[in-house]
Amino acid sequence: MPALSDLWTERAEAADHADRLRPLRALFHLPEGMTYLDGNSLGCLTYGARARLRDVVDREWGTGLIASWNQAGWVDLPARVGARIARLVGAEEGALVACDSTSVNLFKVLASALALRPGRRVIVSERSNFPTDLYMAEGLANLLNQGHELRLADHADDIPALVTDETAVLMLTQVNYRTGALHDMASLSRLAHERGALALWDLAHSAGALPVDLAGDGADFAIGCGYKYLNGGPGAPAFLYVAPCHQAAARQPLSGWFGHAAPFAFETGYQPASGVTRFLTGTPSVLALSALDAALDAFDGVDMAALREKSVALTRFFIAAVEALCAGHGLQLVTPREPARRGSQVSFTHPAAYALCQALIEEGVVGDFRAPDILRFGFAPLYNSFADALNAATTIAELLASKRYEDERFQRRNTVT
Ligand SMILES: *Cc1c(COP(=O)(O)O)cnc(C)c1O
Repeated sequence: MPALSDLWTERAEAADHADRLRPLRALFHLPEGMTYLDGNSLGCLTYGARARLRDVVDREWGTGLIASWNQAGWVDLPARVGARIARLVGAEEGALVACDSTSVNLFKVLASALALRPGRRVIVSERSNFPTDLYMAEGLANLLNQGHELRLADHADDIPALVTDETAVLMLTQVNYRTGALHDMASLSRLAHERGALALWDLAHSAGALPVDLAGDGADFAIGCGYKYLNGGPGAPAFLYVAPCHQAAARQPLSGWFGHAAPFAFETGYQPASGVTRFLTGTPSVLALSALDAALDAFDGVDMAALREKSVALTRFFIAAVEALCAGHGLQLVTPREPARRGSQVSFTHPAAYALCQALIEEGVVGDFRAPDILRFGFAPLYNSFADALNAATTIAELLASKRYEDERFQRRNTVT
């Protein structure tokens, strides 16, 4: 009788063999000996992005200098990169730009949304939302000084009851960063609209991980991250979306010259540009936008439904392998078991999650730890394989069985976890 691990190896090989997206893995620089399951925190480098950065530095910047704003199209990068992301998240033409950070973009779109609902003072979100989203909302409410308040749901099921005729904005992250739970964007946007509120979606863990239909699902505003599943590099520019129906009325508070109707007329007063362009602020980071632009080449021609199919298969395989190989060692799945209710990550709780995560990293299996006790594994469908998933599961099993993670050196905390 073959050993349990042989059966899992055969299954992983068969699944990798059948994977139609498998050739895309070759576009990425994947460090030798590493199983990288942290693309939901920082996506991998593509060879294309590396080559593009070299070219931008040496030719466009080094030789072209100021002329490159026009000749290399630097000035159009926010719109051009935005249009490529738009395809991945179902945005209408001219409704999405790449700029600034997710936090800053949240500030801009939330301020616009609140101004569109002047009689209302409540922002509804979730206590488990990524903290920066809540911090930015809190800071904006303080700045406005008009009595805006955040009301936070403790569970997703509690959201509907919190959305009332006092609610200005329902602000949610589509995929929860800790558990990977996926919200139904269409039904929650509809709920917000039925009660006269606007729907603002954070796509940090959705963009590039699963198909999103901003236009079809009725999102009013959205923001998202460039360095996670879009692989734009550390601190890559983020993006923001404004539904076409709001673009003429929406005003944003960071009214810099790049959002002006005529930036190079150098007028004294501010006149917003038409469309989503008015949501730009200052000079874009050309190196960073160029890297993101090149990284997006990996998505060219990729059918987002096929991407989702692979993502679901990978996470399902990983859950099954961990539960079969690590049974009885205290791991608890916190990601929804039903594929339609999860994004592209799998999280488990364990009392020694931090030490386990450190021990895994030493073994070359890179996931991450999220306080207080979560072990998180992201599956980037463009480059992760079923062999990656199995290697992670068998390494976790080995560490749990040997208890090697209890070693003192795995307890020390780093700044970035
Ligand atoms: C990753 C993430 C962010 C990151 O914000 P930055 O401004 O890039 O630091 C924001 N919101 C959510 C939900 C995230 O997952």
